[in-house]
Amino acid sequence: MARERIISGSAGGNDEERFNESLRPERIVDCVGQERIVEQLLIAMKAAEQRAEPLEHVLQSGPPGLGKTTLAHVIAREMGAILRITSGPAISKPGDLMHWLTEMKRGDVLFIDEVHRLSRTVEEFLYAAMEDFRVDFTIDSGISGRTVNIALQRFTLIGATTRTGLLTAAMRDRFGLQFHFEFYSVEELTEIVRRSARKLKVKADDGALGLIASRSRGTPRVANRLLKRTRDYAQVRGDGTLSRKTVEQACEILQIDALGLDELDRSLLRSLIQTYNGGPAGIEALAATLGQERDTLEDVVEPYLLQIGFVIRTRQGRCATKAACDHLGLPFAGPKAPPEEQGSLFDED
Ligand code: ADP
Repeated sequence: MARERIISGSAGGNDEERFNESLRPERIVDCVGQERIVEQLLIAMKAAEQRAEPLEHVLQSGPPGLGKTTLAHVIAREMGAILRITSGPAISKPGDLMHWLTEMKRGDVLFIDEVHRLSRTVEEFLYAAMEDFRVDFTIDSGISGRTVNIALQRFTLIGATTRTGLLTAAMRDRFGLQFHFEFYSVEELTEIVRRSARKLKVKADDGALGLIASRSRGTPRVANRLLKRTRDYAQVRGDGTLSRKTVEQACEILQIDALGLDELDRSLLRSLIQTYNGGPAGIEALAATLGQERDTLEDVVEPYLLQIGFVIRTRQGRCATKAACDHLGLPFAGPKAPPEEQGSLFDED
């Protein structure tokens, strides 16, 4: 059986989902980090409450595992609303959305994960629901078909996406609040792991918590997973208590290095440096060489490598930096593109 990748983007299976849920902060005051988002949200929620109106629609973007679903739960709870959760790929036609839309009471929250994967037809159908809280819905097809205009309760749509560049401008503009999630600092992750350890009743010293945090790629989901794996290791090979040493030993088994990179990260870098002579290489070519989905590389692997300056995006493709070569102990082939030709961190191709 393929081993679960500790940094994988998805929330994993049911067990993993339950584990995530047990560690999720419930109130906004329990959320660590993302201070700018929290601040804007507190103001928007307070203003909505004073006007006795539902919260505006919210668009959340950022790599997986940074807390987008968590924040949707928190918003619903803070607004005293019911949260309904679905995802872009689960909605293939307007009819799939109808029961969600008609079920909602005033102020309820509909969370659509991977909102960039909605079809154009569904997206256009949503526009009227988001703006006017009414939809034109076609009942039956052919000559007996007719369209009815249905009024909806005022609800809040929260859309989450790993990449805003994949959303149409028309869709983006319909979200009054737009939040981009950043990677967490080691201090923030240490606090998250400390709280998780407390909830899981795991004994861990400061050294262990700090080391887990520094090897978690700025991502709470990875930090919680690493805590879980280290707890297993300490239980089976030690006395159940987490120290710096147990975390180091667990990371060695999991092949997670000092920067939190795993074998897939290193394979991507090695491929870029050795097969493509440092780049530039197109994402499709890299995906084919590594036998991985392009989306996995773009959504899960690459953002952190860009963040720590190991990979840069240029108009011609991805290039490895000297820092990446130094980390892997490989020779650097020289700079590949002038800075003005480099794309921004979260550019789309
Ligand atoms: P996303 O929806 O962005 O993929 P999630 O909301 O599922 O990410 O977050 C993954 C896990 O990380 C959650 O189960 C939660 O335990 C933890 N987490 C996320 N954000 C925070 C935060 N701000 N504070 C504490 N824990 C967090």
